Amino acid sequence: MLSYRHGYHAGNYADVLKHSILLQVLKSLHKKNKPLAYIDTHAGAGGYALTDEFAQKTGEYLDGVAKLWDKNDLPESLQQYIEDVKHFNQGESELTYYPGSPAFVDMNMREKDRMVLHELHGADHALLDEQLGSDKQVRVIKGDGLKGLLGAVPPLERRGVVLIDPSYEMKTDYQDVAKTIIKAHKRFSTGIYILWYPVVKRAQTEEMLKLLTDSGIKRQLRIEQAIKSDSDEFGMTAAGLWVINPPWQLDETASEMLDYLSPLLNQGGGKVSVKWEVGE
Ligand code: SAM
Repeated sequence: MLSYRHGYHAGNYADVLKHSILLQVLKSLHKKNKPLAYIDTHAGAGGYALTDEFAQKTGEYLDGVAKLWDKNDLPESLQQYIEDVKHFNQGESELTYYPGSPAFVDMNMREKDRMVLHELHGADHALLDEQLGSDKQVRVIKGDGLKGLLGAVPPLERRGVVLIDPSYEMKTDYQDVAKTIIKAHKRFSTGIYILWYPVVKRAQTEEMLKLLTDSGIKRQLRIEQAIKSDSDEFGMTAAGLWVINPPWQLDETASEMLDYLSPLLNQGGGKVSVKWEVGE
């Protein structure tokens, strides 16, 4: 039984980094005029009202996207992100809605591109389907995204981005995620894989990431933003993106983003890092 709802966390600091990096990856791929497949294994509801009870209960977006909303000194790497959030708010001056990963991709999709979205939670799947299900370029699947990923690769286009953004509700998720990425990479080794990970218990996260570093897969980049020091207490202290086959210069772009985001979003003691964990 799934209890996680992304509405509680939409627009938090982890979403800011995740969605900004996703947009930079798409931008790099769009430089070539060739079709692209986007596969989202854990798509969520597609979009969120920040006025609803979920977002209001935690107020996490206030320590995330809200801190960027009115800024006029954003580095280039964050400008598209905020423009898209503003577009999703239909140009209104108040921040009221927040786009999920499928909505960000939808706002940047070209006619030849296509999306495959997986969501297991009944209520969030219904919202996602309502938002994007009738779009001919989009397939919304109610089912397990890890199984779905193995069925979706290699995509016909042979060019693709995979976002793996689990809720890590079950302990086994960490291992399952790494094992699935390794299998998917065997079938589609040129794909770009963006894995989102939380740091709640550092050892648990590193165990998952070690499976990837030890897998023999080349070109693995860590982009991590801690807002606090690691701790044994309950709660997420950092979040990161583990990118396999990152586009050229994503490391530099990520550093530029984090240099800007860290002083703005840090809650004391957090460090940021961009590091090639496995090279060529
Ligand atoms: N990617 C979304 C975004 O950036 O807007 C957020 C996704 S949220 C972190 C994780 C989602 O995965 C939740 O909506 C949850 O219901 C869903 N989920 C959990 N286990 C799943 C599974 N095995 N397959 C597909 N979806 C799953």
